[in-house]
Amino acid sequence: MFAGFERIGGRPSGVTGVWWKASLCIIAALVLCVLSEEVLRHFHVPRTEQIRDQHAQAIPLPKPADPRIPSRYYGKVIRSQPQRHVGKEICLTFDDGPSATFTPEVLDILRAKRVSATFFVVGKQVARYPEIIRQAHAEGHVIGNHSWNHIRRRWMGAVEAVAQVDKTAWLIEEVTGTRPTMFRPPFGRVKNYSMANVARFRYNAIILWTIDSRDSAHATAPEIQRNCLNGLRSGDILLFHDGVSERDEMVKALPLVIDAARGRGFRFVTVPEMLREMEAATSP
Ligand SMILES: [Zn+2]
Repeated sequence: MFAGFERIGGRPSGVTGVWWKASLCIIAALVLCVLSEEVLRHFHVPRTEQIRDQHAQAIPLPKPADPRIPSRYYGKVIRSQPQRHVGKEICLTFDDGPSATFTPEVLDILRAKRVSATFFVVGKQVARYPEIIRQAHAEGHVIGNHSWNHIRRRWMGAVEAVAQVDKTAWLIEEVTGTRPTMFRPPFGRVKNYSMANVARFRYNAIILWTIDSRDSAHATAPEIQRNCLNGLRSGDILLFHDGVSERDEMVKALPLVIDAARGRGFRFVTVPEMLREMEAATSP
């Protein structure tokens, strides 16, 4: 079988030579396979890796969300910065979701950056994508109520207002296991006989915002960054939208806003977390 090797220093010949060439080819092919896999592995960057943040790795992953709020905020409207009582922290809030496209992207960014946020969800959308909201809750984000279908009408009967608030609250509880403690009225409208009033009767805190990123007004990513970062102060509640419309610019701006705010020393907390810290800071 190894007759070809008898000619020292020469090349094998005949049938043995063919086998020799074939085995050389096989070995070369195997080496190529291994190498190309190595090369591919080197160049292939998974989606989550692309937004991995080296600085954020030191921050522990958030626990499942805790939506409890102190009783002093039951039925209260939060619309201005409570910076007098909080440390250097801000809240990111996302409205109108979940959407199948943008909410998972936002969750990827928040996970990579180790940021906990607050989502004010529309019941109708939660019914369509309950697993997204279950995941958001498990990853430490708090889920608030933003009505059933984001109804535009300013005035409505009590029965309809109750349905808008309660149906959404029950669905959130069914999906996450915890009842929402906060309501954000569609378009931020806080009026008598409205859904906001029903939510206040249910001891929800009514959470508005102090900074509008203007992502729902077709702001570009650089504009969104400017809107969020200019004049950013402790206790600010930032408004973003992960709802059904086009949100590419917001998704582009979000990691940059997080980095810039973190660079200025801000911490990111959920709205209930900030309310609990305000309570702790002011109680005797
Ligand atoms: Zn909204």
